[in-house]
Amino acid sequence: MNRMIILGAPGAGKGTQATILTESLGIPAISTGAIFRTNISEGTELGTIAKGYMDRGEFVPDDITDALVKNRLNEPDTDNGFLLDGYPRTLQQVGALDEILLEQGREVDLVVELVTEPEVLVERLLKRAEIEGRADDTEDIIRRRMEVYVEQTKPLSRVYEQRGILHRVDGLGSVDEVQERIQAVLKAQ
Ligand code: AMP
Repeated sequence: MNRMIILGAPGAGKGTQATILTESLGIPAISTGAIFRTNISEGTELGTIAKGYMDRGEFVPDDITDALVKNRLNEPDTDNGFLLDGYPRTLQQVGALDEILLEQGREVDLVVELVTEPEVLVERLLKRAEIEGRADDTEDIIRRRMEVYVEQTKPLSRVYEQRGILHRVDGLGSVDEVQERIQAVLKAQ
């Protein structure tokens, strides 16, 4: 049970939970958003391209994102597993991920969806904007990111549900409470 995806709306706490989980499981967390932000701060060509989309609350195009994930999943530190945070985000990316993993002779075995109320998330993201100063955390952009999430990412949970590997976890509560719920899912496997 070490090839995992964490799904959820922007602000649902995916990144925080992913970081704690990877420490306890000893597998890398792969956050496409974090990789894009690193590229932006390093001034790479990928960073320049990604920034244009991120600053508007839009998705970076699938082909760019898929190629990035493919490279990352070819790194040997993923041999014992990985936790994807923020990828896949579109149905197209689900197919791309299936192909990447098929080529490697492996597949995703567990998907955790953090379930949360949209109003709570907007509040959380506005707070995070103050603390982290993320360029994509202004109120208009947050609302756009929520819309894009509902249109493009929410349908993914159905796909994984049909595969029988989706586990919904209540994302409301403290970081520790949510982590405990995720750990309970892992133990039950
Ligand atoms: P995150 O840190 O996961 O909230 O991602 C921040 C931003 O990076 C998103 O709003 C998108 O613009 C971009 N991004 C991250 N992951 C993806 C992805 N899988 N597909 C497309 N764009 C992404």
